[in-house]
Amino acid sequence: MIGGVMPSMLGKRAYAPVPVSARRAGTAVHSGGVKLEGGIVIETTDVQRSREFHGHMCPGLAIGIRAADLALDRIGSRAADEEMVAVVETDMCAVDAVQVLTGCTFGKGNLVHRDYGKNAFTFISRPSNQAIRIVTKPQGFVPRSDEHSDLFSRIRTGTADEADQNRFWELQEERAKRVLEAPIDDIFVIDEVDPVVPARARIHDSVICAGCGEQAMETRAHLFRGQIFCTPCFEERDRS
Ligand SMILES: [Zn+2]
Ligand SMILES: [Zn+2]
Repeated sequence: MIGGVMPSMLGKRAYAPVPVSARRAGTAVHSGGVKLEGGIVIETTDVQRSREFHGHMCPGLAIGIRAADLALDRIGSRAADEEMVAVVETDMCAVDAVQVLTGCTFGKGNLVHRDYGKNAFTFISRPSNQAIRIVTKPQGFVPRSDEHSDLFSRIRTGTADEADQNRFWELQEERAKRVLEAPIDDIFVIDEVDPVVPARARIHDSVICAGCGEQAMETRAHLFRGQIFCTPCFEERDRS
């Protein structure tokens, strides 16, 4: 059931600060929440928590908030352990919101990065054995205005003054807000996919590197001229 939101799939979010009925009824907008089409409310706290963790608000973070929100609504609740797994095909801003809101984190090993440079996110729920892949449409980020593009290139070339910087971030906020408020079909292509869970994070033995004396996981160790090295030490020797 990907086209619409099934009532039975709603309200599984354990951290929700307001009752499920208020979150999804479409009548009660939580103070300052972003109200979307169909009465769906993105909690202010979701936005705040993501912003705090990431450090700023930007369209990329907003994409991550929308993707995380969608995953929690459609396939399952926040991962306290490894109930949900996220496979992210980007390492940009959006992934920070995914980590904060879904509990799929780098440290727990239920956040898997595939370095494809695509704004695509697959969420797999172990308990419900469901998975969705969410791909951001080219227009999903809300294109920059001419003014915004101009400020961006000034920042990149180091010629932006403080007023330019402030204006740039003001426009970033505006774009992020538009991403948060957009109908979901305007920003994402959503597909149900096979719930193939990548192998669980495993603990391996460590070995002592012959170069630096530090410990490294044995699966990351390199054998070079009869000795065991960690990756940086191996790369150093391999180059020389
Ligand atoms: Zn960002
Ligand atoms: Zn080493």
